[in-house]
Amino acid sequence: MRVIKPLYDARLGDLEQGDMIKVECACGRVELIPGYGLADRAKLPPFTPVLDLERRLRCRECDQRGKVVLSIQWQRD
Ligand SMILES: [Zn+2]
Repeated sequence: MRVIKPLYDARLGDLEQGDMIKVECACGRVELIPGYGLADRAKLPPFTPVLDLERRLRCRECDQRGKVVLSIQWQRD
């Protein structure tokens, strides 16, 4: 059984195959991003807090940066 970290303590390197990051923008757009490998794709160190992405992500709908709220959908086994 995995140890599920609280959101504020979760790092990009904690995310495994099947874990999804849910991105909800103030404009209403919701997107699911695969968490596994995200550190590599975003060229960020694995100890980067997942919540750091909130101010980095740009919404594809309204093109605003830093308007999103993140949550993690952990893969349950
Ligand atoms: Zn938006």
